[in-house]
Amino acid sequence: MKSANVLVSTSGTLTMEPEGNNRLLQDVLARPDNETCADCGNPEPDWASLTLGVFVCQACSLLHRGIPHISRVKSIQGAWEASDVELLADLGNNVAKAKYEQNVPAFYYRPTHTDCKMLREQWIRAKYERNEFEFIEKQEPYTAGYREGFLWKRGRDNGQFLSRRFILSEREGALKYFNKQDARDPKAVMKIETLNATFQPAKIGNPCGLQITYLKDNSTRNIFVYHSDPKEMVDWFNAIRAARFHYLQVAFPGASNEELVPKLTRNFMKEGFMEKTGPKDAYARGEVFIGSKENSYTVQPGLPSTIQGYHWNHGITIVTPDRKFLFACETEAEQRDWIAAFQRVMNRPMRPQEYAVEAHFKHKP
Ligand SMILES: [Zn+2]
Repeated sequence: MKSANVLVSTSGTLTMEPEGNNRLLQDVLARPDNETCADCGNPEPDWASLTLGVFVCQACSLLHRGIPHISRVKSIQGAWEASDVELLADLGNNVAKAKYEQNVPAFYYRPTHTDCKMLREQWIRAKYERNEFEFIEKQEPYTAGYREGFLWKRGRDNGQFLSRRFILSEREGALKYFNKQDARDPKAVMKIETLNATFQPAKIGNPCGLQITYLKDNSTRNIFVYHSDPKEMVDWFNAIRAARFHYLQVAFPGASNEELVPKLTRNFMKEGFMEKTGPKDAYARGEVFIGSKENSYTVQPGLPSTIQGYHWNHGITIVTPDRKFLFACETEAEQRDWIAAFQRVMNRPMRPQEYAVEAHFKHKP
């Protein structure tokens, strides 16, 4: 319920002013540190935790409700007590960050409002419930450089999930999994160098579903895994990021954390089906490097006049400095969405590391 002073002037106009405490709360909320959600960075948070002293967005406030012994949330539209407003004035997002995010490792994934609920919830629990980042002495399992355990892995043929032993070893530079508990030879060795991991709960059909992508014999492979304990799964995810971080620090000496962190894992901007079309020599590896327009990468609707889509009619031509790649989409809307996604990538300048990736693609058939 909104609490307000109602003023009626002699001319008959009606004005509503928030009452004293709520007006003070608005002042606290207007502070730069409180302009975005303390947990996901969403602008204009409209909830606050009375126990933690932070402002959060509505989506995060729902996750705070899941830890009532730690956090008690209230809408900023409610009627506020003076003591609660004072607490938020004394604390606020910056003070809380200094306490709860004191020792977040550089590689640790900080979710945004676009990430899946499980990832956002675990970030909130890691900070406020498990106090994972408050003490330097506390060694979290994902920092160790070695991790071993069981994950449910989707079978290639029947789509059934089977328990498989996984080992991540920075020393060996690889993530491996084994088909049988006693098997000595791994079923797959995924090099940390080529590894990507991204949560795909809807696609995998599990809130903790993780898609792991790697290169084998120059082609992209995917495996789909989950752990029934969300904390375990997020620990695996961050262990993979830690291993990638340490690998990249060696591969690109002198690069700053700000340059390396975006390279640890990538979320897919858009995923879906396009038909590969065009000449037969088509790229075997299943990946196309997309650089910036400043480096002569462009995308245009349609296909060269000599080429037709095999089944689908809505063509897309991607022009790279080396050659053209031709795709076709089923619908015009899909074609538009894909072109927009490619353009978002091409509008960004390439980072120094991306020149190395580009060269890697050019030198492979
Ligand atoms: Zn939020």
